[in-house]
Formats: sequence, structure tokens, C-alpha cells
Amino acid sequence: MIGARYDVRVPDSSPPAPLVAIDPEEARAALGGRAIGPHVALAHGLNRALERIRVVGAGAIQVFADNPTAWRRKAEPPPGIDAFRAALADARVGPLAIHAPYLVNLASPDPVVQERSVEVMTTELLMGARYGARYVNVHIGSHKGTGLEPGLERAGELVARILDAVPPGPDVPMLVLEDSAGQGDSVGVTMTELGTILRSAARHGADPARAGICLDTAHVWGAGYGVDTEDGVEALVAELAAEVGTDRLAMLHLNDSRAARGSRADRHEHLGGGSIGAAGMAALLTHPALAAVPAYLETPGMDTGWDAVNMDRVRRLLVGRPLPKLPAEAYLARGERV
Ligand SMILES: [Zn+2]
Ligand SMILES: [Zn+2]
Repeated sequence: MIGARYDVRVPDSSPPAPLVAIDPEEARAALGGRAIGPHVALAHGLNRALERIRVVGAGAIQVFADNPTAWRRKAEPPPGIDAFRAALADARVGPLAIHAPYLVNLASPDPVVQERSVEVMTTELLMGARYGARYVNVHIGSHKGTGLEPGLERAGELVARILDAVPPGPDVPMLVLEDSAGQGDSVGVTMTELGTILRSAARHGADPARAGICLDTAHVWGAGYGVDTEDGVEALVAELAAEVGTDRLAMLHLNDSRAARGSRADRHEHLGGGSIGAAGMAALLTHPALAAVPAYLETPGMDTGWDAVNMDRVRRLLVGRPLPKLPAEAYLARGERV
């Protein structure tokens, strides 16, 4: 039986205890065929990442293709990328999403930052094709005190410039804009802002089929959406449908939050262990408008074994089973900033 395997090493960064892999068929069935999986570190190699996928019973996977805190990008994917892709396809784990580096700022008023952002995102999309990624997800950025409206307009313009620099093709991933909790002068916080950016992108010539959005559940909570209840999730979906279009929602980031609703803070928590809580996370996981959307976990301690705990909690939430109380060590695990 899958689950209840809260066998983790905390809170240091030592490698996770070797656990028994879950049969891919069984893993898929336990997720009801849903594409849900963790953000997996590639720092220990592609084989370690594949092992983690099997151990946690992932149905999808998100990775960094390179250092998330640097502008500099590698020219080539790691050796073994083709075998990695084949192994994912074999286990029917996907889609693969790549999270772009944090330095990118699509709303920046600074032409140098704009130029670098276009360059890096172009590289990420081309590299994404080599990884077999369906999505490249990016934080939209900050208007740096120059005003929300011009920031939204610039973000749309930069989306168009990035897509213009990457010839379309079946292997080219979609450019996916992640909503923000609203720290600092960040843009893309509300559904209205996300819709405005996508309309700006279209006005600047971007093909709508090549750009979508990602909703991070901890960010929508920080932004003030009351997704701790079914009614709150319903309201979010209604606003998404009115302002963006549910067909433009490409990805979900499935995280509980350590922050208060509307605090504009971004602090991820274990599923059902934070201020959104189990009822809210279950409502987000099972709403019919969100159920077909690939979802990726960015919960604390992903590389110290807590990824397995949170995937177990996903499987429970999907079928309405209660969540075990988290041990005190769980709250010492390092938060993920992705
Ligand atoms: Zn996220
Ligand atoms: Zn992110």
C-alpha cells in the first residue's frame, strides 16, 4: 500500500534514506491518472532524480535546467538527457516543467535587465526543447517603482520579444507566467493583472497558444484569495475564467502557505500543514476546472525526503482521506522559494 511512509531525515541536507520505489502503474493509479509531481533537484545527477520520482510515486516533474540564481546558462544539457527523457516517457511521468532563474524581470524598466531577461528566457526555451519540457515557468518580475500599468504592459511586450526570438515548433515549450504573492513591486498578482499581461503580449504579436499562466496556490493565498474553503476556490476559478480564461491556465504550483492570507508574503508549507489547510488544498486539487491542469509541489524539504510525505498527502487529499499530523521536525524543513 502506498503512503504512510514518513521515513525522512531532517533537518539537515543529507541525502534521503533509500526507500523502496513505487511501481509506476500503481503510482499513476493512486493519483487517478493526474499529472502531479514534485520539483526535483538535478544537482545530484539525473539518475538520482529518476530514483526520487519512483520513490515518491510522481506523475509529473519540475526541474531547474541550470543555476536558478545566476544569469549565466550552460550551453548544453547534461550528458544523459536523452536517457532521462526516455525513462520519464517509459514511466509515463510528465509533463516536465522547467523553472526559469529568479533574476529574470519581464516588467523591468531597465533596458539592460530587459535584454538579459529576453536572452536568458530564449536560452531556457531552447534548452527546454532539449529536455523535452512542455513548459518553462518564470516569475514575471517587478516594475521597480515605475507603476503597475506600465509594468504589466512591458511584461507583455517582453513575452512577445522572447517568443519572437524562438522559432515555434512542436518541441518548443510554452512560456508560462507564474502569479506573484505581491511582494515589493511585483506584477501579475491578481487574475486581472495576469489577463492584462497576456492581452499586452497578444497586442505585441505573441501567439496566445505559446504563452500561458501558472497559479501557485501559496501565492494566490498571499495575494488575498481565500482558497482555504471550497467557496473561495470557486471564487478564484470564476475570476480566472472572467479575467484570463481557464484555457490559459497551464500549470499549478501546489503549496500550502506559512503566511497569512493577503499578507503578500511567499512562504511555502507542507500540504495541509499551513494556513490554507487540508480543506483548501483538497478543494484546489479536486475543482473540476483545475483537475486537468498539471500540478507541481514546491513544499519544504523537497530534497531531504519531505517530497515523499507531501506526495502521500496529495494521494490522501484526492480521495478525501484524513492527513496524518506532521511531526514537529516537518516545520524545521527548509522552505522552497520556487
Ligand atoms: Zn511556485
Ligand atoms: Zn516560482
